[in-house]
Amino acid sequence: MSHHITVVGAGQSGLLLAAGLLDRGYRVRVVSDRTPPEIAAGRVSSSQCMFASSLAVERELGLDFWAAEAPPVEGISFAVPGPPDSPAAGTKVIDWASRLDGIAQSVDQRLKMPKLIDEFVRRGGEFVVETADVAALERYHDESDLVVVAAGKGDIARLFERDATRSPYDRPQRALALTYVHGLEPRPEHSAVAFNLIPGVGEYFVFPALTLSGPCEIMVFEGVPGGPMDCWGDVRDPAQHLETSLRLLRQLVPWEADRAGNVRLTDDLGVLAGRFPPTVRHPVATLPSGRPVLGMADVVVLNDPITGQGSNNAAKCAASYLRSILAHGDQPFDRAFLRQTFETYWDYARYVTDWTNALLAPPPPHVLELLTAANTRPDIAHRFVNGFDDPRDFFPWFADPVAARDVLAPAGAR
Ligand SMILES: Cc1cc2nc3c(=O)[nH]c(=O)nc-3n(C[C@H](O)[C@H](O)[C@H](O)COP(=O)(O)OP(=O)(O)OC[C@H]3O[C@@H](n4cnc5c(N)ncnc54)[C@H](O)[C@@H]3O)c2cc1C
Repeated sequence: MSHHITVVGAGQSGLLLAAGLLDRGYRVRVVSDRTPPEIAAGRVSSSQCMFASSLAVERELGLDFWAAEAPPVEGISFAVPGPPDSPAAGTKVIDWASRLDGIAQSVDQRLKMPKLIDEFVRRGGEFVVETADVAALERYHDESDLVVVAAGKGDIARLFERDATRSPYDRPQRALALTYVHGLEPRPEHSAVAFNLIPGVGEYFVFPALTLSGPCEIMVFEGVPGGPMDCWGDVRDPAQHLETSLRLLRQLVPWEADRAGNVRLTDDLGVLAGRFPPTVRHPVATLPSGRPVLGMADVVVLNDPITGQGSNNAAKCAASYLRSILAHGDQPFDRAFLRQTFETYWDYARYVTDWTNALLAPPPPHVLELLTAANTRPDIAHRFVNGFDDPRDFFPWFADPVAARDVLAPAGAR
């Protein structure tokens, strides 16, 4: 008799894990608080840019339905404007780009998740619409050998206790906003995540994606709290959201405003504003009955989107949990197994978390030196850009001033 597993949450991590388990003969139930049509008709929730090794997880599961249709993101560009009251104001003092070794792609979750749910049901999975609460988790536990909570930023994540040793921040570090648009001018060279860092103010990045109405571009604003980019509270409607987005571009990154002269919103729900504290939680929660449930992806490792890693982490978490569950065979899913399953994933995710949390703080001198050196050192630009696909590579050269010195040394001296 094969194990029965309940996955709560039909999002990026839950649906990949569910599909992988189903393919390997497990009986799987996915619980979602929204029906597929409700997800498709809802608000955008992410910019979900996924890099090559995360796309490979979807491809291996036969879930890469948009590989041909979604526009390729071929590289990453990086720009820093000069200080506002200096002669360099309005120009780029750092300006470089490099290609990714494998393309990245972003598919609107309103398009992706309904299709992945349909596919899960087509392959024989059980799909239940219910907003899971503690009583429901108890019920799933009665009926399943393992309950995994993959409910993203849903309230039920609070069942999992914050891990203060792994969470350096206890409040939001950025005011976030998304603006999905049609009509943005493409970059003249290759397509890219165009990443702009405005010291003390925040970050703006923009890249091609696929949404309900076809190819689009997603603008992402990351405003330092209390600064000029933390300005979404008074926005009353989608038109005002777009106008605020364009005003910020004109004021802070005029070269990006030049690309946005003819943009229009993809749809009235293609906008989002919010904030949350980056939080790592203990991976196992105990139900009132004393039985354990396992958290996954954003439930347990919720990073700020500044590095665009959440969907990537979700795919990698699904692949990691799947490997652990398969390797466990017929043995019971006890608390030690659940903890070890998370720690195996954390062995990867901790690098993503450390790197992401570091980028939320003002850059230390060696990071500024590296980012400036990349203007004339394509090898550094290439390494930085490709680190987005596997942030473990930033350690130690990006994280540690001594290791950075080695990379910064001219070729002959290294
Ligand atoms: C502004 C912004 C920009 C982002 N940009 C990027 C990016 O460019 N690249 C990237 O990799 N990541 C990005 N992310 C993060 C990424 O989208 C998430 O990390 C990822 O979707 C998390 O996957 P998940 O499976 O943990 O949760 P989700 O994909 O959020 O799925 C959780 C699901 O659970 C459901 N749910 C919630 N509560 C319950 C309940 N009680 N019962 C049943 N179902 C429930 C929800 O409705 C949802 O469908 C961004 C996030 C934000 C906020």
